[in-house]
Formats: sequence, structure tokens, C-alpha cells
Amino acid sequence: MKCPECGAPMQNGFIPAGGGISWFDRLSADQVIGFAKSLPGTSAWFRRARLEAYRCTRCRLVTFRYGRQVDDPKSFEHK
Ligand SMILES: [Zn+2]
Repeated sequence: MKCPECGAPMQNGFIPAGGGISWFDRLSADQVIGFAKSLPGTSAWFRRARLEAYRCTRCRLVTFRYGRQVDDPKSFEHK
């Protein structure tokens, strides 16, 4: 995957999501806080969810994919 900002190849890895990840839509200035929406596949009761992720060290940008998990981190180490 290429970085959407600078176009450099991104490093492949994963993000451990212990208690799940919630999403908040960006709100207008007069609103204090919105409703959290839990991202599917980011929480697991038996172990930490592992989310496929890519990072650009130049831009300090990380993208991750939700809805499916990385089962074995070693399986994609050299891709
Ligand atoms: Zn970048």
C-alpha cells in the first residue's frame, strides 16, 4: 500500500485493539461530543483483536483495516 499523502510504500503491520475501537464523526464547534460507533471486528473477548495496518514513517500516518483480523502476524511479515 502507498501512502495517500506522499506516495511512499507503507510498512505492513498490525495494531492490537484491546477493548475495541470506537469511531466519532467530526462535529461542528458547538457540539461537545457525538455518539460512539464501535468499529466491527475491533474487539474480541478471548484475545486482543489484531487489525491489519500500514504506516508511513515519513508522514507519521497509519491506516488500518477493520472488520477482519490478522490471525498470525508472522504470515505477512515479509510481504
Ligand atoms: Zn507518507
